[in-house]
This record gives sequence, C-alpha cells and structure tokens, in this order.
Amino acid sequence: MGQSLITLHDKAFRPYLSAAKIGVAIDQVAARLNADYAGRRPLFVVVLTGGFMFATDLLKRFTGECEIVFIRVASYEGTESTGKIQEILGLREDVQGRDIILVEDIVDTGTTLHHLLPTLQANKPASIEIAAMFYKPASLRYPLALNYMAMEIPNDFVVGYGLDYDGLGRNLPDVYVAA
Ligand code: 5GP
Ligand code: MG
Ligand code: MG
Repeated sequence: MGQSLITLHDKAFRPYLSAAKIGVAIDQVAARLNADYAGRRPLFVVVLTGGFMFATDLLKRFTGECEIVFIRVASYEGTESTGKIQEILGLREDVQGRDIILVEDIVDTGTTLHHLLPTLQANKPASIEIAAMFYKPASLRYPLALNYMAMEIPNDFVVGYGLDYDGLGRNLPDVYVAA
C-alpha cells in the first residue's frame, strides 16, 4: 500500500488499511458464508454504489450456487407516522421464500438498513442476513443482527474500496482516513 497522503477534492487522507488486510478479512467472512449457506442457493442483493467492490471480492469467494442482483436505495421523507421511506430500485426478483444476503459497503449508524429491512421483509423472504465490508460498532443506533461483518473499524470517516468522499475515491484498492 502507498505510504503517502492522497488528496480528494480539498481534503487530505492517509493510508489506513491495505488491500491485503481487506482480502484476509473477506476470506474469513466468505468461509463462514460458504459453511452457513451450503446447499441453500442464496440471493445476494448488492446495495449500490458503495457495495460494488466488496461484492466483487466476496462473491468470487462464494463457492455455492447463488444469484446476484444489484439495487439502489432512494430515500425520502414520508409522513410523520411513516418517517423515512426507503424505495428499492432495481429489485425485479421475487424474494418470497428466498435466503437473502444484503451486501453493503459499511454499516455506520445503521439508519439505511433500519429503513431498508422492513421493505424487504414485507416481501416475505425466508431469511435476511447482512454482509458488510466495514462496521462501526461505536456508531450503531439500531438493534440490527450483523452476522457477517468483514471488519470492525473505529468511528472514522474512511474512503476507498468502494467508499467515496463526495464522489471520489471509490476506485482505490486500499482504504484511507482523513489525515
Ligand atoms: P448508515 O445508514 O449505516 O449510517 O450509513 C450507511 C452509508 O453511509 C454507507 O452506505 C455510506 O455510503 C455512508 N458512510 C458511512 N460511514 C462512511 C465512511 O466512513 N466513509 C464513507 N465514504 N461513507 C460512509
Ligand atoms: Mg451502503
Ligand atoms: Mg457516499
């Protein structure tokens, strides 16, 4: 991994996690998924945009039969009673009775998932689990079952490996943190 600072827009970032370390963490979470989903043909639902890089590396390591779809989440404020509404874009598959594994870049406060999960549950899947590359335990605000987190990180803003700073940095193979 490069040792030097990088700049994205106006902000400096320093090296934080190497692609090699990320790879080891993904090996471990993939091994657990391979064991837990043996013979089950799960439907991986990859949440774009940030999830693309983790999904690619994770799914190359998944050895069983599976299907893969990509979704986007559009959020807008609903009425006072419904709160935030999450609309799922791109999910054409019938998820009823399926074993779903949501693939996310990072779980921070958990707000995104807290609102997304009920929308998916309404379509009666057999199960839903969440796989994320990064997880910030100190930030979590909702009681979510987070069984396939590849790596826990402190409450820092990171970029790279799918994660952006105002649109930039998603392509970086290593992860950086604000300097
Ligand atoms: P949550 O809803 O769990 O608070 O946050 C989920 C989303 O916030 C992530 O999918 C990601 O887009 C963004 N996010 C949270 N933490 C970070 C971070 O450290 N770096 C970047 N680039 N985005 C983050
Ligand atoms: Mg995300
Ligand atoms: Mg972002």
